[in-house]
Amino acid sequence: APPQSAEETHIFVSKLPAIPISNDIPLHTYCFQNSSEYPDRPCLLVDGKSYTFAETHLICRKVAAGLSGLGIKKGDVVMSLLQNCAEFVFTFVAASMIGAVTTTTNPFCTSGEIYKQFKASKSKVIVTHSAYVDKLRDTGDESIVFGKDFSVVTIDSPMEGCLSFSDLMAADEANLPEVEIDPKDAVALPFSSGTTGLPKGVILTHRSLISSVAQQVDGENPNLYLKADDVVLCVLPLFHIFSLNSVLLCSLRAGAAILLMQKFEIGALLGLIQRHRVSVAAVVPPIVLALAKNPMVDEFDLSSIRMVHSGAAPLGKELEAALLSRLPQAVLGQGYGMTEAGPVLSMCPSFAKLPLPTKSGSCGNVVRNAELMVIDPDTGCSLPRNQPGEICIRGPQIMKGYLNDPEATARTIDVDGWLHTGDIGYVDDDDDVFIVDRLKELIKFKGFQVPPAELEALLLSHTQISDAAVVSQIDEAVGEVPVAFVVPSIGSELTEESVKEFISKQVVFYKRLHKVYFVHSIPKSASGKILRKDLRAKLAQASS
Ligand code: ATP
Ligand code: MG
Repeated sequence: APPQSAEETHIFVSKLPAIPISNDIPLHTYCFQNSSEYPDRPCLLVDGKSYTFAETHLICRKVAAGLSGLGIKKGDVVMSLLQNCAEFVFTFVAASMIGAVTTTTNPFCTSGEIYKQFKASKSKVIVTHSAYVDKLRDTGDESIVFGKDFSVVTIDSPMEGCLSFSDLMAADEANLPEVEIDPKDAVALPFSSGTTGLPKGVILTHRSLISSVAQQVDGENPNLYLKADDVVLCVLPLFHIFSLNSVLLCSLRAGAAILLMQKFEIGALLGLIQRHRVSVAAVVPPIVLALAKNPMVDEFDLSSIRMVHSGAAPLGKELEAALLSRLPQAVLGQGYGMTEAGPVLSMCPSFAKLPLPTKSGSCGNVVRNAELMVIDPDTGCSLPRNQPGEICIRGPQIMKGYLNDPEATARTIDVDGWLHTGDIGYVDDDDDVFIVDRLKELIKFKGFQVPPAELEALLLSHTQISDAAVVSQIDEAVGEVPVAFVVPSIGSELTEESVKEFISKQVVFYKRLHKVYFVHSIPKSASGKILRKDLRAKLAQASS
């Protein structure tokens, strides 16, 4: 990049004042720092059971002693291969207590995928459900033998060759070893979603996670205000950083109750919201889509919801409006995150204790105690307000680096400490951050750029479309053209022409759809993102 003088650099910071952050302590200490003031408040709600803050903290200490009894030491890695459950929480916090690191994995992964992560992270133990043990028996490597070279712990029924979680819980917390934890020690090793390629291991330290949680829920005017009597919905998978950080860790720190739901199913979700009077819901666009479009929603009482927090993927203003018409009492807003960024870069200011307005379609303002910059992807120069470019973030919350990949780390975090996100966005006159799309996903029609997210948002505003995705297709004349995959609503009479016309009426010529494919569903990752690479592969197959 050409040299730039200081006055030419445009740096954006939060409208909220910076706060003191106690990020020199271990993460578990920070999360439970205030809990002695409310030992009997519910902390975890799951399957009709409830654990108070005092109970949760005690079980975590016992499990920590149990893990230590298994030989897990400071710096060792524990693999959590779990759906949302109380044991996820106990395992994660317990590992932190002995200075160990938790790597989180989607239990739906194949044996090969799991062992790839297991080996890359050098895990020493796997905590999982009995249902997944069979796919763990063959490690695919003679030098690592199941049950001999590492232990497998099941949280439900005992399985042959495995240990039981209840044994870990039976350990005496008095045997918890004293460990010295440096703020720069790793505590979590989540993997990115694998939207653009293979998932990448991301090293997050005690300091980075505390900083990120504090940027959200600490201070006199928390940006994400969680109250003691809140019931926070935890339906997004805890193996993904959005749920782990913004739901679990933030709620622990703020003293709010966490309602754990194993997996997303719309009927069960609506029933739980009604029964437990859920007040805060963290969601991803596919759940917003279901809440906005599914007819079942009208049969349930969702009046307890005061805040809906969407993240992980673009959410257009059309869909925001559709959801708000069903939840008129709620504040709906977005956070913008990326695993490598700890993960939160920006948060809706209307979630604050003293709420500030934000615009629909915006991802809020950059978090406090951090700096955001927008750079021209071609020149590397920083851009002023209202000009889209690559978003970069700097602050104590960002990752230490990628697992086993110093080169990728150096490509992502530059020498000045800026983390380059690969996302295109801009900051407007009111400090509102807007994400246009990923740099890699922009469709290039001659010299013009077409963000698929914008066309998807328009498609979803059609009453007869229940889901949609847009990808690029190679075109000899113009380079790339946008084509759509559309899931029609039941009973709809959509035709390819009517969909194309619906879009062409609303956009400039180069954003028009060149083809519409009707499909039954859109492939999405567990973290709620459209897997456009799968759709592009489908296109390539069809045309070859
Ligand atoms: P991979 O890096 O492995 O290809 P991924 O980037 O999808 O996968 P995550 O770290 O889970 O993995 O997701 C971060 C990305 O999600 C961001 O870089 C951004 O593209 C997208 N994202 C997150 N929140 C929002 C939001 N509110 N609006 C638009 N995009 C978002
Ligand atoms: Mg990414």
